[in-house]
Amino acid sequence: KIELINAKKWIDLFVEKLETNKVVLNELDTAIGDGDHGTNMNRGAEAISAAFAKKEPENLADLYKTTAFAMIQKVGGASGPLYGTAFLDMSKAVKTDNLELGDLIKVGTDGLKRRGESDYGMKTMIDVWQPVSEALSEDKFNQQVITDALVKSKELVATKGRASYLEEKSKGHIDPGSQSSAYLFESLLEVIG
Ligand code: ADP
Ligand code: MG
Ligand code: MG
Repeated sequence: KIELINAKKWIDLFVEKLETNKVVLNELDTAIGDGDHGTNMNRGAEAISAAFAKKEPENLADLYKTTAFAMIQKVGGASGPLYGTAFLDMSKAVKTDNLELGDLIKVGTDGLKRRGESDYGMKTMIDVWQPVSEALSEDKFNQQVITDALVKSKELVATKGRASYLEEKSKGHIDPGSQSSAYLFESLLEVIG
């Protein structure tokens, strides 16, 4: 489980990584998409910071909801509603009871699948969320889990999202949304050790 103080640190670190790696994410998206994933996520990051500055989240549901709304309102593209749905579902799920982290990330993963009409193995961010959720549940979450997920997804042909237009040519490139999700979970790792 993660408590409010650490969850807030988690999202703050994610915001920081999105700002630092805006160009990296744009470059990944230039290779197999339209080159805007870094710019999109950076807009979301700025909106999250602004929302936290305006009002400090009072509880976990509030923290995830604020994150979700910033993503939905400011990120745009495919990734905004996807991250937004994941965090909104997580917000609803913690309203009654703080979940184990593996279950929390599974709720987010299921939200991505529903919203994206997609599944594991389509070379999207789900390829990172799902293995992280499983590793957390098995108490085996570490940097290697994230790296392995990225490497595995890199060799796939995309069947959802813009990269799927490239068919075979999408192979051998890291999916930008998987990389931004890797930043999300590297941030989590920094907080929970
Ligand atoms: P856009 O493609 O609209 O420019 P972004 O570049 O911000 O949006 O985000 C692209 C990322 O969104 C992809 O790298 C992928 O991880 C994710 N994505 C796109 N479509 C889907 C989908 N249907 N299901 C899950 N993830 C998706
Ligand atoms: Mg894009
Ligand atoms: Mg776009």
